[in-house]
Amino acid sequence: MNPGQQPMSPPYEGTARHRSAVVVGAGPSGLAIARELERAGHRVTVLEEQDTVAGKCHSVDVDGHAYDLGGHICTPMYERTAKLVAELGVETERTSRYRVLDAEGSEAARQAMAFLRDDALPRYRALRAREFPHIAEPGLAHSARALAAPVGAWLAEHGLRSMAESFGTGYTAAGYGYLDDDVPALYFVKYAEMTGLLSSRPQLLGHAGAFTVVGGFGALWRRVADELKDVRCGVRVVAVERHAEGVRVHTDSGPVSADALVLAVPLDRILPVLDATEEERDLAGRVRSNAYHTTLASAPGLPEDAFYFLGRHTASREAMGHCVSYHHRYPGSDVRTFYSYGRPEKVSALLREDVAALGGRLEQVHLRRAWAFMPHFGSADLADGALDRLEALQGRANTYHVGGLPAFELIESTVAHAQDLARRHFPPAH
Ligand SMILES: Cc1cc2nc3c(=O)[nH]c(=O)nc-3n(C[C@H](O)[C@H](O)[C@H](O)COP(=O)(O)OP(=O)(O)OC[C@H]3O[C@@H](n4cnc5c(N)ncnc54)[C@H](O)[C@@H]3O)c2cc1C
Repeated sequence: MNPGQQPMSPPYEGTARHRSAVVVGAGPSGLAIARELERAGHRVTVLEEQDTVAGKCHSVDVDGHAYDLGGHICTPMYERTAKLVAELGVETERTSRYRVLDAEGSEAARQAMAFLRDDALPRYRALRAREFPHIAEPGLAHSARALAAPVGAWLAEHGLRSMAESFGTGYTAAGYGYLDDDVPALYFVKYAEMTGLLSSRPQLLGHAGAFTVVGGFGALWRRVADELKDVRCGVRVVAVERHAEGVRVHTDSGPVSADALVLAVPLDRILPVLDATEEERDLAGRVRSNAYHTTLASAPGLPEDAFYFLGRHTASREAMGHCVSYHHRYPGSDVRTFYSYGRPEKVSALLREDVAALGGRLEQVHLRRAWAFMPHFGSADLADGALDRLEALQGRANTYHVGGLPAFELIESTVAHAQDLARRHFPPAH
């Protein structure tokens, strides 16, 4: 550096000098960006419509045990999440092992990971280096056009059948859709990368493999929220007005004004109350999501002590409605979390059948939760640049977008993208 020269400031995008923000949504992405902004000296108000924070990482207590209804498994790729966990002194533990269960529940096998030893892996690596080298970095837009094709067609075109065999069961069991659906390859490849199995990342927080939060993942987000100055739960947003100087969010408990608006909810969900532009309306109309369900129930008689993927029900979309996976977490407890796709009435009826077929008995259902899981765009929209258009909206009308739609539906993906967005667009206010 020449004498007298100022240190370089980060390359802040846009010209706005925001000092305050209202964040809509208190899931991981909303809380992560709120924390980042507050630490940079901004005044932040978080508005959440539910009575509690954590969004799709909600956990509940049954008989003295914490059960995660949604997100809770972290892999060695979860560096930002691990940093947050360490900063807050939250305790972690390794997660249950994974097993693939046959239809009768009699055989539980390890996942076949042939891809990692197959000659397809070097071909995948060469393709990745050539066509989507940034896939493991926060966000999706950088890789969207290269991976816009429907996943089945993309796997066939590149001779990656063993990649489907190794990652498809877990991908489908986790809510991202069936490989014979028309979901773009982008989401499958991002998922595979985020499992950490394609890289040799070091241990995180002392765990050789996947880990989670002791006492339920919701506890982490409650800790984040507790440190923030202004988090309001049980608030309904009724209208959003944006103007050149800032934003005004009208709620059922009064208006909140700020320089900037951060939408930590998918665009299609907030559209009804947003003073939306044509571009926002058009993009919102293209957002899709998966109907995915968690059922927390006592079901004795089933195989225990693992996260079980039900091989037959993950193989094809024809099995839609059947249970795709279940988790037995606590020894000595009959409670399990079951996961299914489809219409709620069908899910409840089929779950009873599926449990019986596996040799168990569905007793008390403690809770059911339906999710609009994995906000995403279809293949044609990705090829036409839908994610680039969403990125181009960042900062327009003092509005920013974080969460699963721009980042991918995983804790680490949403946290890393939200933190980077704050660092890129919001210069420190102090
Ligand atoms: C069953 C299931 C299992 C999962 N398993 C894993 C896993 O093991 N590992 C992993 O990494 N990820 C997992 N995920 C994904 C992970 O939970 C999500 O990617 C993550 O929670 C997304 O964070 P978010 O903040 O973008 O959105 P959300 O968590 O959905 O939070 C959005 C928040 O906005 C609120 N909101 C919505 N509309 C409004 C409104 N109009 N006004 C005010 N507030 C509003 C919602 O109530 C919610 O609190 C799982 C998800 C589910 C559902």
